[in-house]
Amino acid sequence: MTRLALIAHDDEKPTMVALVQEREDLLAEFDLVATGTTGERIAAETGLAVERKESGPIGGDTQIGAEVVEGVLDGIVFLRDPLTSQPHEPDITALLRLCDVHDVPMATTRSSAEFLLDGLASESGEDT
Ligand code: PGA
Repeated sequence: MTRLALIAHDDEKPTMVALVQEREDLLAEFDLVATGTTGERIAAETGLAVERKESGPIGGDTQIGAEVVEGVLDGIVFLRDPLTSQPHEPDITALLRLCDVHDVPMATTRSSAEFLLDGLASESGEDT
């Protein structure tokens, strides 16, 4: 089963929820994991089951990074807020670096997320 991680900074959470709602049928076929608050919002606003890690600023990004190292993630949608500095910037940079090291596809914008979801869907044989 395709395992996808979802992370969104606060200003990007509405975009993440809209994206997930738009692709809910596809994402229902995926194994979803998210940082704490992102996962809470997705679970509350869609019918999807989401495994929740800790909130990003207290280690959730690092827990997702550990999954990258373990090789259990097929992709990450990480909607970052490009206009606000984050207290956990080192964790964010580490996650990006681990995706580079392990060649795990990460989308950081809504449009690139659409391409990533389409690609994962075609790899897994699901309709988009
Ligand atoms: P959150 O974490 O989903 O718990 O808000 C996201 C982040 O800031 O990395």
